[in-house]
Amino acid sequence: MNAALGGWSYALARLAAALVAGSLLGWFVGSYWAGLAGTLAAYLAVQLHQLYRLDHWLRNRSRLDPPDPGGLWGDVVVQVVRLHRRKKFHKARVVRLFRELRRSTASMPDGVILLNDESEILWFNRKASELLGLRRKTDFGIRIENLVRQPEFSRYLAAGQYASAVVVPRKAGEDSWLSFQAVPYGDGQMLLLVRDVSRQTRLETMRKDFVANASHELRSPLTVIAGYLETLATDPAVPADLRAPLAEMRRQSERMTTIVEDLLELSRLESSDEEVAGEPLDVAGLLATLRKDVLARPQHPSEVRVAIESETRLVGDPGLLHSAFSNLVDNAAKYTPAEGSIALRWWSDANGGHFSVTDTGPGIPAEHLPRLTERFYRVDAGRARATGGSGLGLAIVKHALQRHGAELEVTSVPGRGSTFTCHFPVRRLLAAEVARRASA
Ligand code: ADP
Repeated sequence: MNAALGGWSYALARLAAALVAGSLLGWFVGSYWAGLAGTLAAYLAVQLHQLYRLDHWLRNRSRLDPPDPGGLWGDVVVQVVRLHRRKKFHKARVVRLFRELRRSTASMPDGVILLNDESEILWFNRKASELLGLRRKTDFGIRIENLVRQPEFSRYLAAGQYASAVVVPRKAGEDSWLSFQAVPYGDGQMLLLVRDVSRQTRLETMRKDFVANASHELRSPLTVIAGYLETLATDPAVPADLRAPLAEMRRQSERMTTIVEDLLELSRLESSDEEVAGEPLDVAGLLATLRKDVLARPQHPSEVRVAIESETRLVGDPGLLHSAFSNLVDNAAKYTPAEGSIALRWWSDANGGHFSVTDTGPGIPAEHLPRLTERFYRVDAGRARATGGSGLGLAIVKHALQRHGAELEVTSVPGRGSTFTCHFPVRRLLAAEVARRASA
């Protein structure tokens, strides 16, 4: 700063001295103004010459050495050289970094695609081009949905729910699967991770098929055993000391039948992730039936209340919804003592439709709540066995709700009771008058 000021003072002093000398010379030869004008013209000529040299050098910077005019022009040249060097240094660094980034993303096991806010491809790595058959030159700027033509994928991108990945077939009818996980960033841009999940998907399908086939194969022998046990239980010829073991065998065979039936139902539910279409369901009628079923149990809570706070109908698969709701009501009835009570409630608001089952049973400690819908997960194995549960009820509820885009929420206070609530999205509701008009 000081050097710059020094340079400027020196240049101004030199100009002033030249002007004084020029005017004095002019005064001697008879025209003071001519001397001053001549000096200014000479000064201007020198500046223009320097400017010309600077311009010439800047235009041919790569070939020529910088000029050395000294003075203020010299300072300007030094600063330009410094700026140029700094720019070159930063450019080299950015290029190096970009190369590193390209090399590292090229060796990534997953495909990576960058999309702009219009879902157009900005960039992709080698793995992505391998998995999706992208070509560098022609596919930049193309909308990703035009290259991945799977309805599930388009729905996933449009829904904006990117907590989990979507798995789609690589090509229709092929046993090869890709998983896409979107990671939004910036102002509408998106990072899309692509992975080949054919192996995992095949294993998962094999697992599901195995459970379904095993359950199916177990059903027939179990029916025969249960049939014989029933006949024996009522046969007066059976010795008295065999009656108790026979009764226990019958109870256990019934449990096994329940487990097999529930496994089969779960397999059916797991066979697809697609949401079911269904039809408008009269929730009040369904809850009245479920209430009757509870009261028909040999042992049941003394009070079963039903509160219908909305006439809105629920659009879904009647079988699946009956299965989900009856599993929740069955649990409440199973785990609540005779002196306790159960309340069933249906209401709707701006968020959608809600069905809840509240009981005054033993409640569930908080640490168990996140795992409650896992298959065969039991809070208290002894108690569950005594009530004859399969351990699959809540897994069935969760899957049946998923097929309706709904979620299960569980709140509980140990010793006081539990509330299981099914939250259905607004798209699953049909206003009562619309339903009436439709059926009229
Ligand atoms: P189960 O057939 O054993 O009832 P579920 O999947 O229906 O299996 O339930 C899982 C576990 O959650 C049960 O074993 C039980 O411990 C607990 N549970 C479910 N509903 C209730 C409830 N209303 N009150 C207390 N515990 C419950």
